[in-house]
Amino acid sequence: MIAIAVLTASPVFAQNNDAIRYSNTITPASLRTKLSVIASAEMEGRETATPGQKKAAAYIENYFRSLGLLPGTSTGYQMHYPVYVDTLMDASLIVNGKKFTLGHDYSFDITGMPTGNWIINTVIYAGTGVVSETRDDYKGLNVKNQWVLIDEGTSTETTSLRRLTVLRRKVEQARLKGAKGVILITKDFPKKSFPLKGSMYLKKTVNSVPTLSISYGIASAIFNQQVDSTADLSNIHPSVLNTKAHLSVYKRAIMLESSNVIGIMPGTDKKDEYVMLTGHYDHIGKRGNDIYYGADDDGSGTTSVIQMAEAFAQAKAEGHGPRRTIVFMTVSGEEEGLLGSQFYSENPVFPLNKTSVNLNTDMVGRIDPGRKEGDSTNYIYVIGEDKLSSDLMKITDSVNNQYIKLELDRRFNANDPNRFYYRSDHYNFAKKGVPILFYFNGTHADYHRTTDTVDKINFDLMAKRVKLVFNTAWVMANRNEMLKRDIPLR
Ligand SMILES: [Zn+2]
Repeated sequence: MIAIAVLTASPVFAQNNDAIRYSNTITPASLRTKLSVIASAEMEGRETATPGQKKAAAYIENYFRSLGLLPGTSTGYQMHYPVYVDTLMDASLIVNGKKFTLGHDYSFDITGMPTGNWIINTVIYAGTGVVSETRDDYKGLNVKNQWVLIDEGTSTETTSLRRLTVLRRKVEQARLKGAKGVILITKDFPKKSFPLKGSMYLKKTVNSVPTLSISYGIASAIFNQQVDSTADLSNIHPSVLNTKAHLSVYKRAIMLESSNVIGIMPGTDKKDEYVMLTGHYDHIGKRGNDIYYGADDDGSGTTSVIQMAEAFAQAKAEGHGPRRTIVFMTVSGEEEGLLGSQFYSENPVFPLNKTSVNLNTDMVGRIDPGRKEGDSTNYIYVIGEDKLSSDLMKITDSVNNQYIKLELDRRFNANDPNRFYYRSDHYNFAKKGVPILFYFNGTHADYHRTTDTVDKINFDLMAKRVKLVFNTAWVMANRNEMLKRDIPLR
């Protein structure tokens, strides 16, 4: 039946009669049942490398097995991968005989800071460290293999993220000029707290330049004169300063383990080509007794992947299995920086050049409260169709116009200040040239809060959205050609 349908002149239409029938098994009730487990208190917020994440992985694995999907790796359904967290064991800083206190007087990023011992005899003061077309604070200074001292200056940035971006750029400039260490004078001290654990990461970074933030108090010790503000510092000319500083940092990396859960439905005549359906099952865990349930983020996407697997499994059982192999993958590590999908994209089970597309669902159960009067609430944001393949939009439009009739909102494709395109797992596929589509409902007041719970999910709307993804996957898994890769990634 499949082969005949494919050989007819209008395969999209012929196949979609079946697609529609199986997509009707995606009901609000079936989604609610699964999501109620995934976003339950028992899963403890599913933080990567915690017992809650492992419970969620076990649930998904069992579900995939019960559907008759094959395990995605040679050792089972779970693709295990290591993650690292650095713990600071000890740090000290003495400047010109005075001992300073971590957190009170100075700080650093634990993950980025290497373990080491540094005797610092000279520091090059480079003013505010600005390098632009019209200005170079390094003019006349040679900072190669030297420690550079930079004043943050008067920050006009409105958000802490922007401020951080500016600071990072300054550090990067110093590094590019060959600095062996960077010291930033900021007004952040004393800090209320200084966590001793760093953020989670996948691979050790090499060549990281030690970067330290210091108070005006330490700056005064280095300059050998009292400075209390950036105004005081602006009177000091860039120069080479003799100092006697000793910095030592000792940290330990702890290796933890996480997993992506992968179930496979082998295709028929095109089984060596792949369609990947993804959603991240990890969330941000709990703080004390407060659980971050992550019902929308991304319990909804995880549920979508499982529900689509169930619909495809029923189709296959009745002789309507897909021509291409479908890979159902729920990943972890997303909230820590897209780690699980990065690990997969660097260690793919199936060749990425034979992976026709990645359809990623991350937050598909809610309505964006920012939608304006007159905006439809019968919508989904589709992101990424303007990149990599001109087939993406054509197929989505045809599936949606014929059957689903959601408003496909493409506002986040171009010039998006939120940079949503870069903020979920599909991006690791896009980076490697795999066409992607990202389905997203937008953020809301419960985003990354304990109130992102199952009772706030709009299951009727979610079912419609999952049907759109399912029908799109159906077409992409059964059409004659893989998606063409005819647009460069911008
Ligand atoms: Zn999130």
